[in-house]
Amino acid sequence: MQTRLLFLGPPGAGKGTQAQLLCKKYDLMHLSTGDMLRSEVSAGSPLGIEAAELMNKGELVSDSLVLSIVENRLNEASQGWLLDGFPRTVDQAEALSVLLGKIQQPIQAVVVITLDAEFLIKRLLGRGRTDDNETVIRHRLEVYKEKTAPLIAHYTKEGLVKTVKGDGDVLEIASRIEAVLS
Ligand code: ADP
Repeated sequence: MQTRLLFLGPPGAGKGTQAQLLCKKYDLMHLSTGDMLRSEVSAGSPLGIEAAELMNKGELVSDSLVLSIVENRLNEASQGWLLDGFPRTVDQAEALSVLLGKIQQPIQAVVVITLDAEFLIKRLLGRGRTDDNETVIRHRLEVYKEKTAPLIAHYTKEGLVKTVKGDGDVLEIASRIEAVLS
């Protein structure tokens, strides 16, 4: 089983749910930049205050801000890890590759979870987070298409991409993911 992983896919594809299941089962460190930013927001830290405004508009927070939170965690990684929601831009991917080169822990696989836009919107509306109203959701999907989707081509070139369909039962999707990683 590969244990240095990256999950990619549009908002609402189920990355977080699947990441949690996989990390629990294989004892991987789950690094979700969305979760880390939300905990900064609820702690009311200066970093959280800066991030909240952008998150609630569906914009990305700055590369330097997310990089600093990921870097701290990766530096202390002793077991496998799963990056969820990061990198989200080509610049972030390049910075990540430098960082992973330094700690000599290259990515072993990039799991791309796919789902049609109509399902994504339905799921996100059902979730009810503060950044989950319809206007913001549509904007997040646009930002994904423009800034994050190009990463699929980037990692395909490196031969790392495994595509998994994100429709159906949660456990069924989990076994699809395990199958491509085994
Ligand atoms: P989703 O799973 O719906 O895509 P996340 O929880 O991953 O949502 O992220 C929520 C918000 O946090 C994003 O819309 C963005 O504002 C911010 N965010 C999370 N990760 C990053 C990142 N790597 N770079 C910039 N902004 C980020």
